Amino acid sequence: MHPDVESILFDEQTILNKVLELGNQLTEDYRGKNPLFICILKGATLFMADLVKRVNVPMEMDFMAISSYGASSQSSGVVRILKDLERSIEGRHVVIVEDIVDTGLTLKYLRDALMHRHAASVKIVSLFDKPSGRKVDIAPDYYGFTVPNAFIVGYGLDYAEQYRNLPFVGVLKSDIYATSKTD
Ligand code: 5GP
Ligand code: MG
Ligand code: MG
Repeated sequence: MHPDVESILFDEQTILNKVLELGNQLTEDYRGKNPLFICILKGATLFMADLVKRVNVPMEMDFMAISSYGASSQSSGVVRILKDLERSIEGRHVVIVEDIVDTGLTLKYLRDALMHRHAASVKIVSLFDKPSGRKVDIAPDYYGFTVPNAFIVGYGLDYAEQYRNLPFVGVLKSDIYATSKTD
């Protein structure tokens, strides 16, 4: 537990069991396709690391950083590429690895941008889905858990860069962000 966390939603073992399931599914679906897994920094790093160990086919990894929230807990709607991919994805089967889909603005932008680069296919795997937050019509092709309309932290997910190292995922106490809204 952590003093800034109101309640734990998913403990470490529950998360790892789900990641194993997702890995098994992706292993079946991407056999013979040499997929490129793209981790969206930084929230998806812990998920990516655990997931790829369970994807039992030849594959490659790359990393991308996108601006979304800054330090605030509200989506700005502004999407910007802060760090781009190292290589061309033309003709590649791309799997975008995300931590959570909330408004969907980030993923909509990303999926369209990567399709534009002539990937053979672009699918999304997100550990968490928060359908109540959606502003655009997009859904992850694979997801681990549905989460309620609350701000969650841990297992890669931050608030103002804190809490990413927590091995579990929980709801952040609302007084933590109510007192420090900067952007
Ligand atoms: P979207 O563009 O779908 O609104 O936002 C996607 C990004 O916002 C996620 O990749 C994540 O970084 C951040 N985000 C959305 N909901 C939450 C949440 O409940 N907790 C945290 N820590 N980040 C979130
Ligand atoms: Mg993210
Ligand atoms: Mg964040």
